[in-house]
Formats: sequence, structure tokens, C-alpha cells
Amino acid sequence: MALGITWTTDWIRRSAAVVAEHRVELVTLDREIGDGDHGENLDRGFSAVLAKLDGLPADAVPGDALKLVATTLISTVGGASGPLLGTAYLKAAGAVGKEPELDGAALVALLTAARDGIVLRGKAEPGDKTMIDAWTPAVDAAAKAEAEGEDEVAILEAAASAAEAGAVATEPLVARKGRASYLGERAIGHRDPGAQSSSLLLRAAAEAAVD
Ligand code: ADP
Ligand code: MG
Ligand code: MG
Repeated sequence: MALGITWTTDWIRRSAAVVAEHRVELVTLDREIGDGDHGENLDRGFSAVLAKLDGLPADAVPGDALKLVATTLISTVGGASGPLLGTAYLKAAGAVGKEPELDGAALVALLTAARDGIVLRGKAEPGDKTMIDAWTPAVDAAAKAEAEGEDEVAILEAAASAAEAGAVATEPLVARKGRASYLGERAIGHRDPGAQSSSLLLRAAAEAAVD
């Protein structure tokens, strides 16, 4: 079943909840290899999104909600992750346009555009120990599931599971982008906070798709 505005706003609400729930964990990860604010940054951003969500017009489409997330994250989240995730949601909104219902191909387009937006903004490559290491496997897994004829729920489940594995796989890496890149080999053994939070956001997308 294609996913519309109800899924999109549920995804956003679940994102805000999961970011709040994991705030301390994300702060702790960022304290190890960054400046310890990642959980605070995202919690502040998604709380601000939540406060605006009920203001969406009754005839809003998924792209409108994604655009609201984008502009709010860009204006309320400091640091690297605000502009990066803001660009992701902005490009995702552009990819789905005015479409009221998103089928599997549209979801793959949404995720691909989000990932491409982060790359456009931050120039990270896979293996640089950034949020891209969650997003790129997620996009690949979603595209594969869609090509195999899986439904929307299975496509998002595949994306979420691949993102979780991708976040875990950042642990042995040396960082080549962001604050963690200043640490050199000392970043080894720590999970990238942005990859971890992105896997939480993608899991929220999958959970929102399940009735
Ligand atoms: P800051 O580092 O400015 O304090 P955050 O702590 O909110 O910002 O976000 C840090 C996360 O941002 C990192 O864990 C990493 O995943 C991500 N990140 C940093 N730089 C880049 C980049 N150039 N491309 C992609 N992701 C990046
Ligand atoms: Mg930080
Ligand atoms: Mg910071």
C-alpha cells in the first residue's frame, strides 16, 4: 500500500520520539569522537519540528511535511548535522514533489535524494565514518528490495536494517570528515554518532509504515 501524509507525519513524530529517547546515547557517542552535542542538536531540531507539525494545512502532501523538517532543522540545529540533514530532507521533498501517495519507487527516490543531498553538502564518501555510512547502504538495500518487487514496508525495513549495520560498521573506521577526523586513529573503536542517529531515523520510517 502506498504511503501518504499520515505515514510522513507519523515518521516525523516517531523521529522526534526516538531522538529524544536516545539523546544521551548520541551525546555520549559524540563525546567520544566529537564535541558531545549531537543528541542535543537533533533533539532541539526535532522538538521544533514537532511544534510546527500541527500547523501543516489539511491538504498537505508528504513533500510539504519533509520540507517543514528541512527548513526547521536548518534553522534550529547548529553544527554539521543541521545543514546536512536539512539538505537531505529538502532534496527528499523535491524528489517526491506534490505526489500524495508514495509507492516503492517513490520511496527509493526519496531516500536516494536524501543521501545525495548529504553528499552534495558534506562531500563525504562511503567509509569516511559519517552519516553517509548509514544512508548509502540504506539506499542500496531499498533499491534492491524495490527491484525485487517488495512492498513499501519491506523496502523501508530493508533500508533501516542496512542503516543499522552501516552504523555498526563505522566502529573500526578512521574518520575523514567532520570533527572526528581531527582524532586520526583515536576514532577507531567508536561508532559515528551521525550514522547512529540516521539509522534511528530510518528505523522510525519503517515503523511508521507498519499499521
Ligand atoms: P558537530 O560535529 O558540528 O558538533 P553534530 O555533532 O550534530 O555536529 O554532528 C556530527 C555528525 O555529523 C558526525 O557524527 C557525522 O556523522 C556527521 N558529519 C560531519 N561532517 C560530515 C560530512 N562532511 N558529511 C557527512 N556527515 C558529516
Ligand atoms: Mg557534535
Ligand atoms: Mg557541535
